[in-house]
Amino acid sequence: MNRFNQPLGGNEMPRFGGPATMMRLPAQVGAAGLDACFIGIPMDHGTSNRPGTRLGPRQIRDESRMLRPYNMATRAAPFEHLQVADIGDVPINTFDLKKTIDIIAGFYDGVLGHGAIPLTLGGDHTLTWPVLRAMRRRHGPVALIHVDAHADISDTMFGEKAAHGCPFRRAWEEDCLINDKVFQIGLRGTGYSPQDFDWARGHGWTVVQAEECWYRSLAPLMAEIRARIGDAPCYLSFDIDSLDPAFAPGTGTVEIGGLTTWQALEIVRGCAGLSLVGADLVEVSPPYDPSGNTALIAANLLYEMLCVLPGVGQGGAG
Ligand code: MN
Ligand code: MN
Repeated sequence: MNRFNQPLGGNEMPRFGGPATMMRLPAQVGAAGLDACFIGIPMDHGTSNRPGTRLGPRQIRDESRMLRPYNMATRAAPFEHLQVADIGDVPINTFDLKKTIDIIAGFYDGVLGHGAIPLTLGGDHTLTWPVLRAMRRRHGPVALIHVDAHADISDTMFGEKAAHGCPFRRAWEEDCLINDKVFQIGLRGTGYSPQDFDWARGHGWTVVQAEECWYRSLAPLMAEIRARIGDAPCYLSFDIDSLDPAFAPGTGTVEIGGLTTWQALEIVRGCAGLSLVGADLVEVSPPYDPSGNTALIAANLLYEMLCVLPGVGQGGAG
């Protein structure tokens, strides 16, 4: 008899049936008693190009149906070590982005108050700003691993401070980040000026552009990042558009020349041993994802994030 919640198995209920929760885990209201939880934030009013990420959490949950509890590669068995549930969606205000930001921050204050580690299904990248605000209130400034095609450090978009191209600028302004422990991986594409990426470098952040990742394993990079972050509390924010559109076309602001799925796995698995306090997977836009593969990748990466949380261990194989 297991002490912890288990995903509903494929021999108990066909995988196309049963609850439409993340990994077919039990649904729960609030994070009381949980070590970690999946949370959806169904929003797209921070997007600047193609919308649709409001439908991301539902589609990620649907594509998570095939996920089994044991990680064959890393030997992680998260449901033997952590109490996990899907606590549903944040009740955002779909007509008001600024109110939505305060709603998200308040919701995450509650989750963190229970000591649960949130794993977030986005939703557009604006959401990481209020999540990091709540992280700061709970943990103080955090180290950040930000995987993305874009820097998301614009001061404003269309004159607005709240947008999916601005969350890390806002987090920096609010002193949410440990500047010499911020790593941006996968940045690429066209810009307005070199400052698009160099602003971050000028503030002590490390930027690893996509071209530096081509043809390479990212395991050595992650070893270096782990050494530099040490035991500082660390947040992982993973924008699905970091992946090449050959893998993940279902997103709003697509850039060619991106990461591969196996590099994405190396990044997330390379977070094992860090003091992760939360993680998100953002920018999945189901209307542009007719095969479901983008949401499928997102579901798998969220599972891999669960597998590297403190307390899971790696089962011995590493
Ligand atoms: Mn982003
Ligand atoms: Mn992006």
